[in-house]
Amino acid sequence: RFIVVEGGDGSGKGGVIEALSARLTAADHDLLVTREPGGTDEGLKLRELLLSAEGAVWDQGAELLLMTAARIQHVKRVIAPALAAGRIVLCDRFVGSTLAYQGAGRGISESLIRGLHRDLVDDLWPDITVLLDVDPRVGLARSRARLSDAELDEGRFEDLDIGFHDRVRGGFLDQAQHDVERTLVIDAARPADQVRADAITQVLARLDL
Ligand code: C5P
Repeated sequence: RFIVVEGGDGSGKGGVIEALSARLTAADHDLLVTREPGGTDEGLKLRELLLSAEGAVWDQGAELLLMTAARIQHVKRVIAPALAAGRIVLCDRFVGSTLAYQGAGRGISESLIRGLHRDLVDDLWPDITVLLDVDPRVGLARSRARLSDAELDEGRFEDLDIGFHDRVRGGFLDQAQHDVERTLVIDAARPADQVRADAITQVLARLDL
């Protein structure tokens, strides 16, 4: 089974993944935890290229193709084999992030993103998406509090563009509305321990574990 955790910057994905991973491993499930962009050596190099200070120079189309390239490698080399072996795969971000960031955020057409996914990524969709929903004003404040001044100076420039992050959040919520069956929307404005506990309860119920 394929579980993806999605959400805007500072929504607490990392902590939720950790908590879910600990809970599933404790219950003896064979689990693979992975992330995007990243997840393979090639993907990590692409992640560096995309998220470094120079990241903001990528044209949106180039950004989409690099994200997709990382995902192709990730799915074919890592995720699909693990699923085929019967493992539970827990992934930090997936195509939902591309629909939200490159689609809703940057304005690339949804049909292009879905078409690339269908033709190049085996049209693999999560069985469950955990969407950590939080106002980007809250999320970005959390992210900033975590970074040093030097890192902030090097940050991607859209960190300052709240409109972009509002569109990204809208993109995630829109996907959730269209896929109610497979999406758990979690209010991530609450304290971290509540968000984690809620995510664990809901995922276990949905997985029927
Ligand atoms: O996975 P993580 O939360 O560390 O994501 C790092 C950054 O990558 C996010 O801040 C987001 O701006 C960016 N990203 C993106 N498009 C994606 C996935 C991530 O712009 N499809």
